[in-house]
Amino acid sequence: MKPQMEETEFWVGTFHGSHDGLPAKVTATRDDTRPEPYVWTCTCGASPSFPTEHGVWSTAWRHTHPTCFDRLRSLAARLFSARTAR
Ligand SMILES: [Zn+2]
Repeated sequence: MKPQMEETEFWVGTFHGSHDGLPAKVTATRDDTRPEPYVWTCTCGASPSFPTEHGVWSTAWRHTHPTCFDRLRSLAARLFSARTAR
């Protein structure tokens, strides 16, 4: 899958990892025409944006390499939202 790049968009970095038992790939890009130039998008659909490059690397790496604590937290969040959905 080739990510679609705008002309003003620059490739910043790619992270490979996994979460939820599936392989995940995060692509970070910079586009100065956006209000928050730095964005990373994951194959799972997540795409947070950042005003500066600071924050991109740690969050992208963390997203593709969740710790046990992150896994428990996302599991708890899923259980909680499942319970409140009814
Ligand atoms: Zn993801």
